[in-house]
Amino acid sequence: MATDYYGVLGLARGASDNEIKKAYRRLARDLHPDVNPDPGAKERFQEVSRAYQALTDPEKRRIVDLGGDPFDSGSAAGAGGFGGGAGFGGLGDIMDAFFGGGATTRGPRSRVRAGGDALIRLDLDLDETVFGTTKDITVDTAVLCDACTGAGTAPGTHPTTCVTCSGRGEVQSVQRSFLGQVVATRPCPTCAGTGQVIPEPCPKCGGDGRVRARRTIPVKVPAGVEDGMRIRLTGHGEVGPGGGPAGDLYVEIAERPHDVFTRDGEDLHCRVTLPMTAAALGTTLTLDTLDGQEEVDIRPGTQSGSVLTLRAKGAPRLRATGRGNLMVHVEVETPTRLDAEQEKLLRELAALRGEDRPAAAGADGHGGLFSRLFK
Ligand SMILES: [Zn+2]
Ligand SMILES: [Zn+2]
Repeated sequence: MATDYYGVLGLARGASDNEIKKAYRRLARDLHPDVNPDPGAKERFQEVSRAYQALTDPEKRRIVDLGGDPFDSGSAAGAGGFGGGAGFGGLGDIMDAFFGGGATTRGPRSRVRAGGDALIRLDLDLDETVFGTTKDITVDTAVLCDACTGAGTAPGTHPTTCVTCSGRGEVQSVQRSFLGQVVATRPCPTCAGTGQVIPEPCPKCGGDGRVRARRTIPVKVPAGVEDGMRIRLTGHGEVGPGGGPAGDLYVEIAERPHDVFTRDGEDLHCRVTLPMTAAALGTTLTLDTLDGQEEVDIRPGTQSGSVLTLRAKGAPRLRATGRGNLMVHVEVETPTRLDAEQEKLLRELAALRGEDRPAAAGADGHGGLFSRLFK
């Protein structure tokens, strides 16, 4: 059943844009995780944010009004943004809820903000993805400025109260409209809403509290990872403005192609070519697998295109026990450039097997080799 997004905001179907905005602001102020410690509040807040998103986007609202759920199709993408608690209806909406309208405000906001995530690619060979490894990676991200430890001020100096807003972080302007005088409140442009200015910025970071730096981090790659998978290193992403908490670093695995083996999930595949005689008579092959040399029995009469399965010689299952298989695809090679003696022997063999005139066998309707082939 589709969620009643109007109901979530305490509204009746067909509420106006203005009513939706007002209801959202009121609820967001009560439920925002920063102001409401109640454990259920965060969930309610996300519900409310989602309802707001659904009803303020004309396309989504059209779906709601038709009785559908705009987050239902591709729900991974729609709902995913809310999972981490970071992807609310956009920071602008939140700021709007707190600063907009001028009815209630929270005063200056912090100069310190959370940092973003970073992504780096890690090229690995097949044996490294299969068995796991530890690699040193070099990343270039924003790190805490060690000269000011994030404060952004030059040594021995301190931030001062913003004179534009007297430290309130917001400015009000009176506008005349047909409704009369309207007082609009917005974040202070001088201090970007923080209520403070840095008169002498740290010379190393220019007041940002962070600098770009290159560092080397060891990454433990678990056995069984696959091309395109991402490993998350919590807190190794970008440090935020004002020295805010770092985001996460994602390491994306890129598996280099292997000369012999191709990979299909937990299974490996390879191809071996056998002389016709070996395929007919049977033999034992020595195969170089990722686990070392492996004896493979080729049974007499092995056909081209047949597949031998070496159990548990593939890649480990990442979130389970056991390993995939190694599939050996057999290709039988027909000999070319026969010398006189080899040709004589093969003709004798053909005669013995009644295969010396296969075209006639097919034509006479008794079902020889060719009729089997061309059935
Ligand atoms: Zn600094
Ligand atoms: Zn200011």
